[in-house]
Amino acid sequence: MTRAGTTGAGTTRVAVDFVRCRAHGLCAQELPEAVRVDEWNYPIVDGRPLPADLVKRAKAAANLCPVLALKVIRD
Ligand code: SF4
Repeated sequence: MTRAGTTGAGTTRVAVDFVRCRAHGLCAQELPEAVRVDEWNYPIVDGRPLPADLVKRAKAAANLCPVLALKVIRD
């Protein structure tokens, strides 16, 4: 069973700043469980809470984004 990415009162999810995004597609390679790309290589995220076991990898993927467009957000 996978727990949602909850810590305390919040949930964690990924989001994309499309103003910054340059469609490298690196995020989908690093975190395919939560990010896929469209036909132009722009990321698609569904905004669902991340499973707890993906939060650390999501932060790593965000740090690898060359323009820091992938965000890990805690609501
Ligand atoms: S790695 Fe960053 S710039 Fe590249 S597609 Fe993902 S969010 Fe966009």
